[in-house]
Amino acid sequence: MESSIVLYPSPGRGHLASMVELAKHILGHHPSFSVTILLLSTPPPDTHFIAAVSATHPCITFHRLPAISLPNSDHLSSSPANFILSNFEIVRLHNPTLHETLVSLSKSSAIKAFIIDFFCNAAFSVSASLNIPTYYYFTSGASGLASFLYVPALHKKYPDSFKDLDAPILIPGFPPVSPRDMPLAISDRNLTVYSHFLDTAVQMANSAGLIINTFDSFEASALRALRDGLCVPDGATPPTYCVGPLVATGGETEVGGERHECLGWLDSQPCRSVLFLSFGSMGVFSTMQLKEMALGLERSGVPFLWVVRVPPPHDEARRALAELKPSVEAFLPEGFVDRTRRRGMIVESWAPQVEVLSHGSVGGFVTHCGWNSVLEAVCHGVAMLAWPLYAEQKLNRAYLVEEMKLALSVTESEEDGLVSAEELEERVNELMRSEKGREVRDRVLAMRDAAAAALSKGGSSRSALAELIGSLEAGSGKVDVSNSV
Ligand code: UDP
Repeated sequence: MESSIVLYPSPGRGHLASMVELAKHILGHHPSFSVTILLLSTPPPDTHFIAAVSATHPCITFHRLPAISLPNSDHLSSSPANFILSNFEIVRLHNPTLHETLVSLSKSSAIKAFIIDFFCNAAFSVSASLNIPTYYYFTSGASGLASFLYVPALHKKYPDSFKDLDAPILIPGFPPVSPRDMPLAISDRNLTVYSHFLDTAVQMANSAGLIINTFDSFEASALRALRDGLCVPDGATPPTYCVGPLVATGGETEVGGERHECLGWLDSQPCRSVLFLSFGSMGVFSTMQLKEMALGLERSGVPFLWVVRVPPPHDEARRALAELKPSVEAFLPEGFVDRTRRRGMIVESWAPQVEVLSHGSVGGFVTHCGWNSVLEAVCHGVAMLAWPLYAEQKLNRAYLVEEMKLALSVTESEEDGLVSAEELEERVNELMRSEKGREVRDRVLAMRDAAAAALSKGGSSRSALAELIGSLEAGSGKVDVSNSV
């Protein structure tokens, strides 16, 4: 019977793409494993992306879990915290079909290991009941992981929610963290989603191993804290495998697509001159913020390539234009596109980010600090200007700016959270034209080389992957079907 590894990503694009990269690396190292990626039935998977991966990597099998009936869940997407709650809840609701699927897969292959995303924590009870060794793949960095694993300790230490604290929070391996930088979903301990994070932190510490999308020399202080057991209650961190940076190589963004026109435009720009602005798969701004950004970019005089999305439905200007299905230009200052036509390009909604970052004309990246974006910037040696929006991105900014010094940061207004045109103009000039910016770029270039070394023969990430494969192989492959969920 062949040996198989089953992976269970959460549906967010960054999470799925990162899990696919892990699958490729496992197969690259151990081609005789069969690798299956399970997909939740809800929300529907990104079929273009999956088709593109299947075409280029036919050894990876995608298996969509049978559909489940969902309770009325409109309220679950009504706020960022509820959106995250729904990520956890939907996985839990899939547990019966997951159980059936694992049992069924075990009839044709020996399941050596089950690798789950952080948000798939509810699935751990299923794999544990079947006696399948379960690993977590943490698609963010070691610094983020250190802080999440430390949440139960912080819960005991502080009687109040993070949102009610004033003093910086001390997390092992991390510079002191402002309470405002803690992810929104764990800022209020009275929210249901908070208990999911607590449970997840406790269960992760009991897993067969933690696979992290980072490399040893990248987040040294956080990794030391993790490995020294400073982040978990009994001091026993499960084995950690830093196998990264696992980043997409590009080309899977389109199936058989033509070269994106923004790449042609980049061809015509001078070396390292262009500032790229992109805010992950979900980043959106209000009309007011878009206008400030546009003015800041215009005044900076720096060439730019900007991925812009229409503001969210609750935005006032968007509501006013609701009937018209407006393009993004309608939300930018009048005449902006014409005035900046020669040195700026707007891309609506989605750009081929990896190809853009690897283009020689790109010299800076305004990023929301999503972990994939950070690693992509590092792998291509592009200096960053940090503008975090959601999830653990403010923590990522703190670590990137204060500890690693690989990014500069914008400062949001204390009053309304907006980044003003003046602030953006100054920071953009600092990144692209000042000595300070040059120093950041030099450090990112050194880190790019360190990342390449980690992934090369004899490098730390290659060794970690080999160790991980050894551990996966050691799984018995015997699924205990005597327990039900
Ligand atoms: N991405 C892209 N084009 C875009 C926006 C995002 O290709 O216009 C890709 C980006 O390269 C990255 C992923 O989407 O691989 C976003 O992941 P990240 O972890 O940075 O942010 P998230 O979307 O999870 O917040």
